[in-house]
Amino acid sequence: MSCKVHDFLYVGALNVFNDQELLKVLEAWKCRACGAVLAGERPMGPITSSEGLMGVIEGGEERWLAVARKGSGSIPPDVIVVRARRGQEISVEAVDEEDSRLLVRDDWSVVRVTDGEPPRTVVVYDLLSQLKGYIDLSTWPPKAFTLQRRSPVQGDLKTI
Ligand SMILES: [Zn+2]
Repeated sequence: MSCKVHDFLYVGALNVFNDQELLKVLEAWKCRACGAVLAGERPMGPITSSEGLMGVIEGGEERWLAVARKGSGSIPPDVIVVRARRGQEISVEAVDEEDSRLLVRDDWSVVRVTDGEPPRTVVVYDLLSQLKGYIDLSTWPPKAFTLQRRSPVQGDLKTI
């Protein structure tokens, strides 16, 4: 069942910090009728109401992942929102990873395509289960915290 027009309700935000500095805010809305999820990656500063919105995921085949990358030297650490499905390869450029290709496994964790090992400088979170929280990238692995009680997706991903 899909809606003609989704009835989105704000779920919450994931604030991305590098120590004291707020880098960006990741957000999600969920449709009250069908559960479709709209995600956004909002930069700081004046933005329009639709700036940074990334589209809608309908049904359970896909998920929004928050992908944290370690910084190094002149490359700042960052968290990006990626749309993914199980068995899919996603590409994440990161320091100390020779190959940007990562495979999304059945439990939504990721491994390097080349050797099946977890990446050293990339950490993946399920966006919806990490909302109402923050990630601090000033240490590696990042410190992540959510006020949500752990939901059915508990244990799905490498978190906290
Ligand atoms: Zn809907």
